[in-house]
Amino acid sequence: MEQLRQELPGWVEASRLKAKEGRVAAYIPELAKAPAEALGVTVIGPDGEMVSAGETSLPFTMQSISKVFTLLLAFMDNGEEGVFAKVGMEPTGDDFNSMLKLELVEPGKPFNPLINAGAIAVASLIHGSTSSEKTERILRFFGEAAGGERLGYNEAVYRSESATAHRNRSLAYFLKDNEVLGEEIDVEDVLDVYFKQCAVEVTCGQLARMALLLAFDGTDPLTGKELIPRRYVQIAKTFMITCGMYNASGEFAIRAGIPAKSGVSGGILALVPGRFGIGVVGPALGSKGNSTGGVHLLETMSSAFDWSIF
Ligand code: GLU
Repeated sequence: MEQLRQELPGWVEASRLKAKEGRVAAYIPELAKAPAEALGVTVIGPDGEMVSAGETSLPFTMQSISKVFTLLLAFMDNGEEGVFAKVGMEPTGDDFNSMLKLELVEPGKPFNPLINAGAIAVASLIHGSTSSEKTERILRFFGEAAGGERLGYNEAVYRSESATAHRNRSLAYFLKDNEVLGEEIDVEDVLDVYFKQCAVEVTCGQLARMALLLAFDGTDPLTGKELIPRRYVQIAKTFMITCGMYNASGEFAIRAGIPAKSGVSGGILALVPGRFGIGVVGPALGSKGNSTGGVHLLETMSSAFDWSIF
């Protein structure tokens, strides 16, 4: 931790240069307001010791990072079989919001739970009798995973996405047509849950705390409490390695070699198994949709400390 404390500020400044090569996501209009040059990181160890550098107080929305935690909640609600009846286990090699393979292979069944179609199918599996009850369970579960109270979502980002999500709507209706979303399921209700989970607002510290829980296989090292069964965390971490960084997951696995999940807000949740939870934010994205500064920073840290799990 001491070496990390000394090196991190310099690494953040060096990675900031990379941020200049990226662009803030604008397809959700509200996200375009994020500061492109910002970069922040928090690392938390098992005893709660924290090292931070850069703009770590900047709040940001989880976006696709939320998919890891709704997947975990869906496993706890439905078991492995229940979830894998609706989504597959394979990376796609296509964009996160692509519909190409939905029609090509097993009609309607999304390839994995981290692409949008898969995450929408997963959102439909969260237990609760209304969409607001499902959302409430998600906010409480995310908050518990972050070591605290219920988390909240950013209303403006939620509304902005909901008003412009034509592609996600079409994916969801396609799932409905193929009965991945069953008869009892209202498509707009599922989308509402999905948009709200994506709009959950966190800081680097909260994200790092959530990552720490995964680094310790679902048992919070600070309280000793098991929040998620180990097997489900194992599956989630595997998905993070194979598809957590969109179509750059292979490259990130080679260069950094740690489980991670990024989102279009520029957040990245990463972990070093049995050691650290890491939360990063850097809103400027590269061509594959990952934070340019954030990826550079994680690669720098991982190679300096030999963190690769491979
Ligand atoms: N809410 C975003 C969407 O569905 C999440 C995408 C992402 O972070 O990859 O488009």
